Amino acid sequence: MNDLLPGDSAIWQYVENTIKSILQRYAYQEIRFPIMESTDLFKRSIGEVTDIVEKEMYTFEDRNGDSLTLRPEGTACCVRACEEHGLLYNQTQRLWYMGPMFRHERPQKGRYRQFHQVGVEAFGMEGPDIDAEILLLSARILRELGAADFVTLQINSIGDAASRNSYKAALVAHLEAHKDQLDEDSQRRLTTNPMRILDSKEASTQALLNNAPVLWDYLDEASRAHFEQLKILLDAAGIKYEVNQRLVRGLDYYGKTAFEWVTDKLGAQSTVCGGGRYDGLVEQLGGRATPAVGFGMGLERLVLLLQEVQAIPEGINQIADIYLVAVGDVQKEALHLAELLRNEIPNLRLINNCGGGNFKNQLKKADKSTAKVALILGEDEVQKSVVAVKFLREDQPQQIIASSEIIKFLKNLV
Ligand code: ATP
Ligand code: MG
Repeated sequence: MNDLLPGDSAIWQYVENTIKSILQRYAYQEIRFPIMESTDLFKRSIGEVTDIVEKEMYTFEDRNGDSLTLRPEGTACCVRACEEHGLLYNQTQRLWYMGPMFRHERPQKGRYRQFHQVGVEAFGMEGPDIDAEILLLSARILRELGAADFVTLQINSIGDAASRNSYKAALVAHLEAHKDQLDEDSQRRLTTNPMRILDSKEASTQALLNNAPVLWDYLDEASRAHFEQLKILLDAAGIKYEVNQRLVRGLDYYGKTAFEWVTDKLGAQSTVCGGGRYDGLVEQLGGRATPAVGFGMGLERLVLLLQEVQAIPEGINQIADIYLVAVGDVQKEALHLAELLRNEIPNLRLINNCGGGNFKNQLKKADKSTAKVALILGEDEVQKSVVAVKFLREDQPQQIIASSEIIKFLKNLV
């Protein structure tokens, strides 16, 4: 779990604000839900035999003996909240959330125990048009942040529950015959969650899969048609993708469309964003059958990627435009001037020198502050109703501006 220090928080704010403004442009609405839920919610949704539920959840008993879990992901929470407040009854919803998730994993670059996701969920629409919309949305986020050249979209269809079941049986039958060549995790998954074997990072296991049955051959007609139409929509929209027939998601509730944005810039933690369709989940959690599709984007990995490819705009660490230097007995006047400027120029970022100090000392602080300009107010200036303006980053002579003109002067400056 990481601390986020001021220099880095500026990067995060830039990334978060860019994403939020894009979500607004697609008219998605924010939903907020608690950071913990009853453990049962995650077991019932994500699935008992998944990595998350088997070994990654932070679960504890509260003082009443209730079992609670820090949310490892947001989709189940989002569905729970929507159901509780009747948001899904006979209506569509386009929602997003952003915040911390918790998984007890082995920490490494791009993998943490508290990490952050932006999640997008669309409810009540069953056609591939909404799949395409959220893919376009995710593509725009990556594009407008400057990551487009470094990510690839992979898509797949994992069919409906019946087609997955017949595929699972065929896959298990095939792999049983080579069980001793499977890695340890995959051997275990053979009986618990065989489709996750497709996702194995072991080269030997991947080699075994080359001759294994492929999911596509078992896919139901509706899923096939849905996938074909999605590809047509993506082609028409100019979104490039690769079909990856081994792409499965680590959570049980997905069906039909599954997708990931992957990068080769972050080592093993290559998935920046993952999602898909989960038409069965709402009903599984006690609601009425409601088609749904969504994704989760990992913000740490996104920030790492943007840093890696130098896509963070310059100037992001500039925190102030103006530093107000106040020398002598002028504290009242300095505070007044600072507030006046904040009233009149709302986008102005101003640091008022606090804690005293002589002229030289305050100018040093002004220089360190990232401000472009120092305003200088001393007893003499107050007397004459003027303010001195010193340019900190460019070679320009100091100017004396009448107090009545200072707002106009600064408005032109920032
Ligand atoms: P992985 O295969 O890398 O473990 P996942 O399939 O478990 O990922 P999801 O549950 O689909 O991931 O979560 C969506 C996104 O959240 C991931 O694509 C990734 O960007 C991010 N993410 C997941 N787990 C972590 C983590 N422990 N630390 C940082 N980011 C994470
Ligand atoms: Mg994981």
